[in-house]
Amino acid sequence: MFTLSQVSKHYQDKAALAGVDLSIAPGRTTVLIGPSGCGKSTLLRLLIGLGEPDSGQLDFDGQPLRASTLPAQRLRMGYVIQQGGLFPHLKAGENVVLMARHLGWSDQRIQERLDLLARLTHFPADGLERYPNELSGGQNQRVALMRALMLDPEVLLLDEPLGALDPMIRFELQEDLKEVFQALGKTVVLVTHDLAEATFFGHSIVLMRAGRILQIGTLEEMVAAPAEPFVEQFIRAQRSHLLNGGGV
Ligand code: ADP
Ligand code: MG
Repeated sequence: MFTLSQVSKHYQDKAALAGVDLSIAPGRTTVLIGPSGCGKSTLLRLLIGLGEPDSGQLDFDGQPLRASTLPAQRLRMGYVIQQGGLFPHLKAGENVVLMARHLGWSDQRIQERLDLLARLTHFPADGLERYPNELSGGQNQRVALMRALMLDPEVLLLDEPLGALDPMIRFELQEDLKEVFQALGKTVVLVTHDLAEATFFGHSIVLMRAGRILQIGTLEEMVAAPAEPFVEQFIRAQRSHLLNGGGV
């Protein structure tokens, strides 16, 4: 679905991404993980065309993201960020249907899609009439997910979507998200810094450090054959999370 070849991105003269090669398979969940500042969000932003690589090639479904084609390409992707990114002055339901209205969908089509998404994400119908600041963090993330899914995109890009939630809410939302991913069969790219979450979601885990990919595979593969000493250190440093969240 995405193919990256030697993709680099600099801010000033510092490399946020340095020669990334990655192929993201359709219909599966790929998790980007690594320490803070390693380039996860930068990579996700390039996938959705918020910024361009300085060098290298990035293709979405066989085509580069070009200014002329980007609006149409973006409609094929849904994007969720850590704090949801909802418009505070719009009700939850209005946030979800904004793009569909803009594209001229009929009221009936919008309502049917909204009902389906609320069921799918276990979001209470009366919550759609509330403003984001009248909803809990977990509910806001369900709204952000509904918004990302409204146009039925092929791809979902999620940047630490559960990072700001407390553990119980996070656990519940992890279960529901996974169910949604499986039910819809979307191509999902999810960023997290939590290895337990990565193993829970990821068909494939991409471990990054300092703008580079160190290893791609399952946690079991990384434990059995770490590509570099840092892979082992990273896994060991997350041991306490793994004991809580399952994994190894
Ligand atoms: P992560 O999501 O893995 O924590 P980021 O992709 O956000 O990492 O950042 C990678 C590196 O790029 C960091 O060193 C960060 O400080 C830098 N960076 C990210 N965005 C910007 C920006 N808009 N301007 C300057 N530096 C940035
Ligand atoms: Mg980030």
